[in-house]
Amino acid sequence: MTTEVDLLVAGAGPAGCAAALAARRTAPGLRVLVVDAARFPRDKLCGGAITGGGLREMAQAGLELRVPRVSVSHVVLRVEGREHRVRLQRPAAVIRRIEWDADLVAQVRAAGVEVAEGAGLAGLRRAGEGGRGPGGPGAGRWMAETAAGPVRFRLLVAADGSAGASLRLLGLGPGRRAPAREGVCPGGAPVELLFDLDAGIPGYAWRFPCLLGGAPAHNAGIYSLEPSPRLSTRLVAWMEREGAGRVEPAAWSIRTREPGGPVAAGPALLAGEALGVDPLAGEGIRYALWSGRIAGRLAARVLVAGAVGLAPALYRAALATSRSGVTLALFSRLAPRLHGPDPRWRRMASDRAVAEGFAALVSGASAVGPGLRLLARHRALSGGRP
Ligand SMILES: Cc1cc2nc3c(=O)[nH]c(=O)nc-3n(C[C@H](O)[C@H](O)[C@H](O)COP(=O)(O)OP(=O)(O)OC[C@H]3O[C@@H](n4cnc5c(N)ncnc54)[C@H](O)[C@@H]3O)c2cc1C
Repeated sequence: MTTEVDLLVAGAGPAGCAAALAARRTAPGLRVLVVDAARFPRDKLCGGAITGGGLREMAQAGLELRVPRVSVSHVVLRVEGREHRVRLQRPAAVIRRIEWDADLVAQVRAAGVEVAEGAGLAGLRRAGEGGRGPGGPGAGRWMAETAAGPVRFRLLVAADGSAGASLRLLGLGPGRRAPAREGVCPGGAPVELLFDLDAGIPGYAWRFPCLLGGAPAHNAGIYSLEPSPRLSTRLVAWMEREGAGRVEPAAWSIRTREPGGPVAAGPALLAGEALGVDPLAGEGIRYALWSGRIAGRLAARVLVAGAVGLAPALYRAALATSRSGVTLALFSRLAPRLHGPDPRWRRMASDRAVAEGFAALVSGASAVGPGLRLLARHRALSGGRP
């Protein structure tokens, strides 16, 4: 039997949950369905650090932080042999995804949204095909094949992450993927977010305090903007140098945002990693909550107004003019420079004022002030050359 909805959301991670909740709150009468390939609680390879900017987005999405976490008020940045310990304007929280994602789904359900698990999106086509024709019952509608049966819908929020099916089904390329390795080991760790940009790759190694079954542990990982050999070996060696224990790294990649990349295709608005997240630090939770919320709210508005055709242009504008959108645009331009071969950028990043600028940006401060200070700093350090 075919399920009929107005808005289909593919993926019940942070992007999909934020989208569904925003749509529900904007237009409670709309029929919204979330489908996810997995069954919750499901784990997700992730450092689990929700920055102050991410917590701000969580609150804006109407989602509460209700799971065990470590609250962190400082970030440590190592670059070019220098180390800066900087206070975060808003503390970050380190959670475990297996707990946090399941709780987001519970909150979305409690708001009245249906979430179908084990219902991965597997196919997309226009519902008008097969004799229904323009103006017929299928006009302006699409059909999704899911593992739980067919769904007829008017708009889709594609929020199925870096390994989801929607990009391929929408005819989009896979986009840029940044490899990452991550593991957790028991034992106490300093209560700060450590980013070591001297790890010998175009990226960084990290170490965050976390809780494992209620006991202190640390999450460690390595992120590379470009493919780099032996990332797991590097991570294990880095942890040994830190005297921080041994991790068994697991491999995944992060789909990062490219300036000017697509925001929509066919019947879909792209959100979260399907849209692309921060390539500078690989931060994805903040941008998943942000883009999901905007996509869900906008989808509900255009569905109610009968103006679905305006959705892509309105969505691009809303993304570009929001605080997290400006920060993401800035980071997307900085990432290839900072992690690239030109030593002037790394020298710039080793400056304390720059570390403070990054801390402000990830805390969710307005991107305009710190962004301009970063650019001015770069000009000064590079002798005024662009
Ligand atoms: C090693 C590593 C460390 C990271 N550390 C951090 C960090 O510390 N802080 C941070 O902010 N970000 C971090 N990230 C990035 C962050 O995990 C992601 O960017 C974020 O989870 C993206 O959210 P999302 O909702 O777009 O996708 P996801 O969280 O990946 O959720 C996508 C959902 O879609 C479902 N799905 C998949 N296929 C289908 C389908 N065909 N149909 C329907 N559903 C489907 C999945 O089951 C999943 O539930 C890290 C990533 C990696 C790989």
